Amino acid sequence: MATPDCDLLVISPHTDDVEIALGGTLRTLADRGRGVWACDLTRGELASNADPDERWGEAARASGILGLTGRLQLSLPDGFINATDRTQVTAVVWVLRRLQPRWVLTAPEARRHPDHLATPDLVRRAVFLARLRNLTSPEPDARWWGERPVCDCAATWIPEVVGDTCLDDAAPDLFFDITSAWEAKLAALDCYESQFRRDGDRHPTAINDPDFRIRLDDRARHWGRRAGVDRAEALSLRGRPVLGDLPSERWA
Ligand SMILES: [Zn+2]
Repeated sequence: MATPDCDLLVISPHTDDVEIALGGTLRTLADRGRGVWACDLTRGELASNADPDERWGEAARASGILGLTGRLQLSLPDGFINATDRTQVTAVVWVLRRLQPRWVLTAPEARRHPDHLATPDLVRRAVFLARLRNLTSPEPDARWWGERPVCDCAATWIPEVVGDTCLDDAAPDLFFDITSAWEAKLAALDCYESQFRRDGDRHPTAINDPDFRIRLDDRARHWGRRAGVDRAEALSLRGRPVLGDLPSERWA
């Protein structure tokens, strides 16, 4: 049976979260020919600026710049991501079984929003339950950008690696060198005019603060110094890598 082209799936609550946290990683891996996907859990209907359709249009443009293979957006309730809600958990289980990702990461900007706090727990539960064949996972409401995989859902799925964007004050387990993808990450962020541009009637928010872009650059350079490269994005993994051979790339 054909399998979806999904080496990496990044799950985040709102459009733009993945670009903020892991846009460089996605573009870097896409440039290496990997199948990279994003899943937005909500349509962002509670956003201070822009409606869900405008944000989805922005997400589509950003997805093209990052070289994503595909992106889907569920319609879980914005502001109420809940890791103990069965409907929400089985929706994510369905995504895992449908895309069959090798790696699964979550990408919420740390501690900025209750959905950002809840998403790693929701995904952790779904990753575990996706392996249980007696758990049914009906297809949730979703809209798609890019390739929609032609194959059917797997009955069960266990990803190889599960992790989260590393919090600023935590110790990373892994870095991705995003030096060559930095300009593309900024270009992807530029697609979200409704979220990052503070002009006209836009409400002031944390992410349309002019200093936000400076903080992102500071973080990328900070992780880069730790990794021995110009700019990096950092991950916290659930479990430690176990090697059976030397890596094919040098460690910086
Ligand atoms: Zn968000």
